[in-house]
Amino acid sequence: KGVSKKYDNGVLALKDVNIKIDKGEFVFIVGESGAGKSTFIKTLLSFIKPLTGSITFGEGLDRNEIGYLPQQTLVQRDFPASVWEIVLSGCQARCGLRPYYNSAEKALAKRNIVKLGLEQLQERCYRDLSGGQQQRVLLARALCATQKLLILDEPVAGLDPKVTQELYNQIAQLNSEGITIVMVSHDLQAALQQATHILHIGQNVFFGTVQDYKTSALGKSFLVTEGGDR
Ligand code: ADP
Repeated sequence: KGVSKKYDNGVLALKDVNIKIDKGEFVFIVGESGAGKSTFIKTLLSFIKPLTGSITFGEGLDRNEIGYLPQQTLVQRDFPASVWEIVLSGCQARCGLRPYYNSAEKALAKRNIVKLGLEQLQERCYRDLSGGQQQRVLLARALCATQKLLILDEPVAGLDPKVTQELYNQIAQLNSEGITIVMVSHDLQAALQQATHILHIGQNVFFGTVQDYKTSALGKSFLVTEGGDR
């Protein structure tokens, strides 16, 4: 409610964002580069503190029950760990102060490896995988943290159209299984097809259903400039 964020360098990255996400929804966050999408996600995740406003979690959702797939940097793409280690590391929040993974956590990691079709790759080094495989690994990792809410920051960036579609299908499948999805994406076509709601961040902010977005002034102009309405 009323979330704004100003960085130390004076950049006002978010101005009065108001949204409400219900269980099972699929929210796409769109907007131009530098509009504040990642800032909003980091604020949602409590990684950074808003200047004004508040974020309230409803009953049945704890702050540490959110799965997060960050935007990947080049350094992260080069991470020298096995697929198994990376997926398992998604269980870290479940460990608390315990310095090892228990058998339930290992079983959970294994289930998510199977779910994302990564069995054949689990001994491989993450940095040797293709971009699409890496994103599937990170999705399996995020699923170890949650069965409730996944927050994904540009999960298809840099992937070719076929692999992008496969990843979208997998995300849609997770949503149909009841996991709430909040996803930053430049892909307006996908947003219009898959989302239940759109959050458009920029000079002006829109939050509402896909249908309302299509008929809003902001939605109409963005769809024309970004070519999402082909
Ligand atoms: P988007 O995800 O929509 O591309 P960001 O949330 O990354 O946008 O950035 C929003 C604005 O805040 C940009 O002007 C960016 O330069 C600025 N910004 C992002 N992170 C920081 C930071 N850590 N310190 C200062 N300015 C930042």
